[in-house]
Amino acid sequence: MEERPARSTESVITLPMVPLRDIVVFPHTMVPFVVGRKSSLLAVERALGSGKKLFLSTQRNAKVDQPSPDEINSIGTVAGIVQHLKLPNGNVRLLVEGISRARVLEIEEDADGCLRAVLKTIERKAEVTPEIQNAMNQASELFERFMKYSAGLPHETMLSTVRITDPGRLADTISSHLPVGVEDKQGLLESISPMERLKEVSRVLEAEIEKLRVDKKVHNRVKKQMEKAQKEYYLNEKIKAIQQELGKKEDRVNEIDELRQKIEAASMPSEAKEKALSELKRLEVMPPVSAEATVSRNYLEWLLAVPWSKKSRELTDIKRAEKILDEDHHGLDKVKDRILEFLAVRRLVRNKPTKGSILCFIGPPGVGKTSLAKSIARATGRKFVRLSLGGVRDEAEIRGHRRTYIGAFPGQIIQMMRKAGTRNPVFLLDEVDKMAADFRGDPSAALLEVLDPEQNHSFLDHYLDTEYDLSDIMFIATGNVTHSIPHALRDRMETIRLAGYTLNEKMVIGQRYLVRKQIEANGLKRTKITFEDEAIREMIERYTREAGVRSLEREIASICRKLARKVVAGEVSSEIVLTPARVLELLGVPRYHPPRESQRAPEVGVATGLAWTEVGGEILTTEATLMRGRGKLTLTGQMGDVMQESAQAALSYIRSRVEALGIDPFFHRKFDIHIHVPEGAIPKDGPSAGITMATALASVLTGVPVRGDVAMTGEITLRGKVLPIGGVKEKVLAAYRFGNTTVILPKENEKDLAEIPEDIGKQLSLRLVENMDEVLEIALAGPLPSVALREEGTEAGMEERPADGSVTH
Ligand code: ADP
Repeated sequence: MEERPARSTESVITLPMVPLRDIVVFPHTMVPFVVGRKSSLLAVERALGSGKKLFLSTQRNAKVDQPSPDEINSIGTVAGIVQHLKLPNGNVRLLVEGISRARVLEIEEDADGCLRAVLKTIERKAEVTPEIQNAMNQASELFERFMKYSAGLPHETMLSTVRITDPGRLADTISSHLPVGVEDKQGLLESISPMERLKEVSRVLEAEIEKLRVDKKVHNRVKKQMEKAQKEYYLNEKIKAIQQELGKKEDRVNEIDELRQKIEAASMPSEAKEKALSELKRLEVMPPVSAEATVSRNYLEWLLAVPWSKKSRELTDIKRAEKILDEDHHGLDKVKDRILEFLAVRRLVRNKPTKGSILCFIGPPGVGKTSLAKSIARATGRKFVRLSLGGVRDEAEIRGHRRTYIGAFPGQIIQMMRKAGTRNPVFLLDEVDKMAADFRGDPSAALLEVLDPEQNHSFLDHYLDTEYDLSDIMFIATGNVTHSIPHALRDRMETIRLAGYTLNEKMVIGQRYLVRKQIEANGLKRTKITFEDEAIREMIERYTREAGVRSLEREIASICRKLARKVVAGEVSSEIVLTPARVLELLGVPRYHPPRESQRAPEVGVATGLAWTEVGGEILTTEATLMRGRGKLTLTGQMGDVMQESAQAALSYIRSRVEALGIDPFFHRKFDIHIHVPEGAIPKDGPSAGITMATALASVLTGVPVRGDVAMTGEITLRGKVLPIGGVKEKVLAAYRFGNTTVILPKENEKDLAEIPEDIGKQLSLRLVENMDEVLEIALAGPLPSVALREEGTEAGMEERPADGSVTH
């Protein structure tokens, strides 16, 4: 579209003139102002008398009262007077409306001082070309935005402005609202071309908007900061007020002071003390209710709670110790001797840490390991703490977590020390054999350090983060077996074995210790309760089957609870005598047959072996049977590798002795053999069942039954020699417990017989053997067949095929 030139209609006129000090009046805008100068009042008067038109132009310097013509801008506005009001002080308030721009050609001054301007009006009407339309749109848009930011003008003004369709008029109207200085406004007035004026207006608007935007941003930020600061201030004041109200402010000072005093009083080593004081400093500047203050306080609490210097006065009187051990435990003479020796040595070598300076009690459950350790504590005047290591698989459980972890705690060692409250307790490490290692680190490595006299005076718990001296502690470990205790640990310890009790021992322990303990524990002291010896025997034989006395204690406790109930209900008199019948009535159906009745009749293919397990001795009934087949050997009952090999050896021995035993030499061509050890769910291993399996095999192959009252244990060689085994005492006790009267043992185990309690030894026939022939002689319930069962002879050319010996399991 071709650009059309703006039309201009210009004419020369003369009008009374008022110089303006600090405003610029634009055409098409209404402006109120007050006129006060004499010359100006005259000009207004003249204008009112003739057509109400004035020429208004801004003087260059607002302060000049009587500006000369060249001190007045040459471009101004022709305006019509809309309203005039004479004020009491002689001034006149005017409301004028700008009509058009005009350029001064000349300024004349009348005799009375009234100014008249000879003018040339400038009227430029622009065609609305797309370009101008664009400029108008832009200006309107900017104006709208500007209005939004400035928020000083009424909404209607904005609306009526943006609706203006004439370009020049739009520019002028916007110009009149711009918050720019007089000079800039004059510049806008002097810009004649509407297009240029629109552009100029847009430029000014953009700059103004930017200014406002930055202003607003800064303002907002400042406001936000102010708000935040105010909020914090307010909240802090409030907390202060609340604390004051609760008397906490002083508490806080008190708390810090108190902690400081405690730290001073705790007689910590200097390193720990420094740690504590620097932590206290940190705590002092923390907001008292913050999470980190809690962490800090907890830490200090721990530092203060562990015993740094407090010690029990140690009793070293061995005689007294002996008395206490005897008081608490029946029997166990050898164990007690070793404990007393240990205490004596420990006393003599006090300051020289020695290897093996840690006692370790090994034995089945309920034999008194824990209670011995407690007695030692009592005998030496130390406190007692117990830490169960069963299932501990994380080093951090021993050593603690670093404080950087959320919810961190000291390790068990330090926790127990806090519990002990003294730095020299008896510290029982229960179930050392049940510790496990996994990806979280090996707890036994940490434990090693704890137990090492060369290192444990500077034990470092991750949480405490300062060295702690463990060297005054008397460590005692317990376990069921030794083989699963890590070697390095075992090395540090002096092992004492507790095998288990005989019936008589159990009866004494029950009668003298457990009954008394349970009567007290169940609040029955005032009732006179007596257990007949036979009643206790009944409980041991028919309700328990164990090496220790734990179940016995449980059964006694159960009876006491039942009696307590009856006493409270008033159902029993103040004197109760427990007879076997009463026990039966209270405990219900017995769990086991008494051993005397459980003796088996002689049976073919069944032999009684003896095993040694974590919970003491056990009997292992071993069965062998023949089936039509081709000499295959099947072994079942969860046998370990060593046990399976031992079964093979037993079979080979039997085959090598067919003639002497009177067995069909070709049995392996006709039969498969199956050996089974019942209670298949329990894994079993070891070579000590060798002679038992050989006996079962010999019996099933010869048809001679095995005596039901004979139990046996021993390893077998291919030549039929009987080799020694371990756990003699436990095994013999088990044999006795299960009612066997004869026990076959390897000759080489003779030395172990000394361990067997005399009364048991007397009641049993203990047979020491060197070879299998002796075993069979004792175990089989009849003579071997004198004539071999030769159904099929060894025919010439018929080659003997060995049993393939393949094992299925
Ligand atoms: P462990 O630690 O070996 O599993 P405990 O020490 O817990 O066994 O013993 C179980 C219970 O038997 C305890 O009440 C204990 O006092 C008691 N006890 C064990 N042996 C004896 C004993 N020789 N004399 C007296 N009481 C005993």
